[in-house]
Amino acid sequence: MKKIYEKPIITKLETGFMNKFGSSPLYARKVRKDIDGVPINELVENYGSPLFVVSERKLREKYRQIYNAFASRYPNVQFGWSYKTNYLQAVCAVLHQEGAIAEVVSAFEYEKARNLGIEGKDIIFNGPYKPVSILEKAAAEGAMIHIDHFDEIIDLEKVAEKLGKQIKVAIRLNMDTGIHPQWSRFGFNLETGQATDAVKRIKAGGKLILNGLHCHIGTFILEPEAYAKEVEKMVKFAYEVEDNFGFKIEYIDIGGGFPSKNKLKGTYLSPDVLVPSVDEFAEKITDALYSNLRPGDFPKLILETGRAIVDEAEYLITTIFASKRLPDGRKAYIADAGVNLLFTAFWYKFNIEIDREVQGTNEPAVIYGPLCMNIDVIDEGSLLPPLERGTRLIFSPVGAYNNTQWMQFIEYRPNVVMVMEDGTVEVIREKEDITDIERRERLPDKLKLK
Ligand SMILES: *Cc1c(COP(=O)(O)O)cnc(C)c1O
Repeated sequence: MKKIYEKPIITKLETGFMNKFGSSPLYARKVRKDIDGVPINELVENYGSPLFVVSERKLREKYRQIYNAFASRYPNVQFGWSYKTNYLQAVCAVLHQEGAIAEVVSAFEYEKARNLGIEGKDIIFNGPYKPVSILEKAAAEGAMIHIDHFDEIIDLEKVAEKLGKQIKVAIRLNMDTGIHPQWSRFGFNLETGQATDAVKRIKAGGKLILNGLHCHIGTFILEPEAYAKEVEKMVKFAYEVEDNFGFKIEYIDIGGGFPSKNKLKGTYLSPDVLVPSVDEFAEKITDALYSNLRPGDFPKLILETGRAIVDEAEYLITTIFASKRLPDGRKAYIADAGVNLLFTAFWYKFNIEIDREVQGTNEPAVIYGPLCMNIDVIDEGSLLPPLERGTRLIFSPVGAYNNTQWMQFIEYRPNVVMVMEDGTVEVIREKEDITDIERRERLPDKLKLK
């Protein structure tokens, strides 16, 4: 029998509705009712919204997972906790308890580590800006100072003279590891011979003893191979330094930069697919060590991994305050947390979970923060079911670079709590009020209004 002619038609597939391809798993919304067993409702009732919540259990778990990936492959491993990634005392204290020393990049961070009880000898002092006053203190306390430029060599020689002793130092290197744009602004360049010149200069001065090499190739590096190149170049350079200048390189510090399971904007694949596992990084790095180190030589391997340890250990609970319809038809929500709290919203697309089951069809929605600023967008477009006022959204991972780069702008900063391993909840940073903000202001008498 002849089939009846059927006119071809094109039907637009509405994303979010069921269609012949099914609904995209990328957009499946998850419900989260608790963090480590503490109900979201209870957290918000007791500590308010928005609320940052750190999981002690997850933090320790991530640290151990990454540390063990290296310690199980190489006998001499030390982690330095990158303060600028998250320097809340409680977070640093957990990581110090786990065995990390401190890695700081300013006088302020140096003081923070000392205040927490970390001795100078357990502080790695990086960064391009170290005024002489803090160099003096750090050198006197035996910190591991990583020199960034020739002027710092001169400053440190003066400090050595003043202290009347030689100072042990390391230099920071920058190099081509295939990662572009290359981070060439920190340290001495390897390929141009600048790094060798720095060693020559240190040797000639006679006041400093070079005992380490440092490098940090970038952040959110998705290429384990880049670290293999870095390690190969550092080990070769270490032997050059030892053979030609007679310094003993006791440690090789390869910096941080491992990615977390966060989704960069503009990437399509989920982080579970895109982000290499820590074992892949560790394998490449230790392979490169073993193929380049001389037999029996095990210099200390230092890692300063920040983001990969802390990012997934923290959540932000935010509450839907209102909803509206934009002129282009999109749904929009106003939440009580914005880019003032989520600095990383500029390049991350966060995982968003809802505190309850919601009926209704998903539709594309944008989530704004509370700021009266056009740029205050914490999610540019996700498929969300209709959310009532008062619904809580849980954003993650938010542990890296938010509690340090957040800003007091228009709104106060909220409470940060830690859910402890024993199930209790501790406030680790109290929410701000007007007295915090105005404490440092001075109103001249002639301007007083009352
Ligand atoms: C920021 C920084 C780190 C930590 O980087 P992550 O990408 O968070 O791992 C480590 N070392 C130095 C020198 C840094 O500046």
